[in-house]
Amino acid sequence: MKIADLDFEPLINADTIEKRVKVIGAQLSEDYKDTKPLFIGVLNGSFLFIADLIKHIDIPCEITFTKLASYYGGTKSTLKIRDDIDISVDIKGRDIVIIEDIVDTGNTAHYLIDKLKLKEPASIKLCSLLLKPASLLTKIDELKYIGFEIENHFVVGYGLDYKEMGRNLKDIYKKV
Ligand code: 5GP
Repeated sequence: MKIADLDFEPLINADTIEKRVKVIGAQLSEDYKDTKPLFIGVLNGSFLFIADLIKHIDIPCEITFTKLASYYGGTKSTLKIRDDIDISVDIKGRDIVIIEDIVDTGNTAHYLIDKLKLKEPASIKLCSLLLKPASLLTKIDELKYIGFEIENHFVVGYGLDYKEMGRNLKDIYKKV
């Protein structure tokens, strides 16, 4: 399959994603059953994951969004983060679960976690659909929920883009 100038092939199909998202939803519902967690979705890439995941959370919870960007339309992390939308909710004393599409170098996650910690939440955990363990530069202690560990591929689909294209695909594809 071609998106702009690059070729992609299937990596994770929609069925497999759906089953895994259901399991993570059940796990979060169990772990946060005595609290009212605040889910913070990191736009844009996680919008489908958040939408599907939240349907499998069966405890009282709140959801808000922030928008960060580090890829600027290429296929390599730029190590620079653009903070596009800040969260408007008071998170002091709250149990926070950040919902990410993918953790690559880990820079975006560290940046967001450090920023949120200044606002004194009760706890912060990170839930990411994908993780590229070989790319991770520094361990993220807060990373507790992971959908799939993948090799160092550039991936698109299920919310993830290449040059803003491919977010609508149901499956996840890797660059050939
Ligand atoms: P990090 O800061 O961990 O290097 O990168 C995190 C962000 O880079 C992700 O939220 C995502 O927006 C983008 N990113 C990292 N790897 C990929 C990838 O394989 N495909 C796409 N489309 N975006 C990626």
